[in-house]
Amino acid sequence: MTATATRVLVLNSGSSSVKYQLLDMNPDSGGGPAAGTRLAVGLVERIGEETSLLAHTPLATGGDKRETEGPIADHEAALKAVAAELSADGLGLDSPQLAAIGHRVVHGGLKFTAPTVIGDAVLAEIERLVPVAPLHNPANITGIRTAQALRPDLPQVAVFDTAFHTTMPEYAARYAIDVATADAHRIRRYGFHGTSHAYVSRKTAELLGKDPSEVNVIVLHLGNGASASAVAGGRCVDTSMGLTPLEGLVMGTRSGDIDPAVTFHLKRVAGMSEDDVDVLLNKKSGLVGLCGDNDMREIRRRIDEGDERAELAFDIYIHRLKKYIGAYTAVLGRVDAVAFTAGVGENAAPVRAAALAGLEEMGLAVDADLNAARSGEPRLISPEYARVAAAVVPTDEELEIAQQTYALVSA
Ligand code: AMP
Repeated sequence: MTATATRVLVLNSGSSSVKYQLLDMNPDSGGGPAAGTRLAVGLVERIGEETSLLAHTPLATGGDKRETEGPIADHEAALKAVAAELSADGLGLDSPQLAAIGHRVVHGGLKFTAPTVIGDAVLAEIERLVPVAPLHNPANITGIRTAQALRPDLPQVAVFDTAFHTTMPEYAARYAIDVATADAHRIRRYGFHGTSHAYVSRKTAELLGKDPSEVNVIVLHLGNGASASAVAGGRCVDTSMGLTPLEGLVMGTRSGDIDPAVTFHLKRVAGMSEDDVDVLLNKKSGLVGLCGDNDMREIRRRIDEGDERAELAFDIYIHRLKKYIGAYTAVLGRVDAVAFTAGVGENAAPVRAAALAGLEEMGLAVDADLNAARSGEPRLISPEYARVAAAVVPTDEELEIAQQTYALVSA
């Protein structure tokens, strides 16, 4: 890395998509983690189809979003197309200013507790974890290999969704099943969205004017996927997702917690296959299964029109959230803040109000005006008298990945 290399490209590779951001980490901009200026953001969708779409916004030049439609055969072609877009703005991947590429990797198992420079052994371990993350890790690996081929000289860093949760005590991480079976198949609770939970819990401490080590926070990451975590003094002590992202809260299309016997029942009585059950619980359940919509805006609109199915779906979603807030209050003993984040958490005031309604005995309350105000900044929504702060803290997983990547390669 040269002295002028301050840029980080963040890649989030899915099975048929690549999201990317190029950030300048401005190391001279003051203390603390580098603030990060976004130079370009974009997305390649429907890789492998005739109608792939590349949407690129060159923020550095103030240019408009450029959209290109046409077949992009695979991840290699996608990354080459992204590189060409960046080059057109003078931000090419061949630039000596590029310090590293940071990859979001969904499953890091127990080995990876921190961001890691990717070498052959690291890649082999990420591959070894494919059986516990069959939907995500293969796409992440493809993204890494493609980026390595494009810039073999550059450090490639893996930032794991599971890393923040590796501090969970054994009694929170283990399922109460036969230990030998669990260990033979690496069955335990790993948790996901860790980059977001880490970022948001730290930002919440900042909002309270405290060091992360001084505060206990319940983070509610409510996006299309959703998870809760209990963070004590900056360390995760429990989280709602488990072996896979299926466990926990009601999500856009996932059921969250369910009696595992439902799956036997579906196979024995309803004649469904393993794959049918997988699709049912991951893609056709949650809000979409309950009412046909997974967008909270649409669900609220339907409730306003008196739609009972939408209302029941909302109530089930809120009931589960409340159970986790209660459980994590008990786990933490003392809670300083409940922080809402991600698409629903940041935008849906009715969800925040309903999730905390009736919890005054637990020190929680929502100020209606503060809750209704819209802002992209971290903010409190609780009245001053509330013993536990309620906050909206926008997440920024790409910035967190860039910061972790840059901190590692510039150390
Ligand atoms: P994410 O996965 O974090 O991008 O969150 C996506 C979800 O956020 C969508 O499916 C919507 O349910 C929700 N969402 C986004 N914007 C709003 C909004 N303005 N009001 C309510 N929900 C929203």
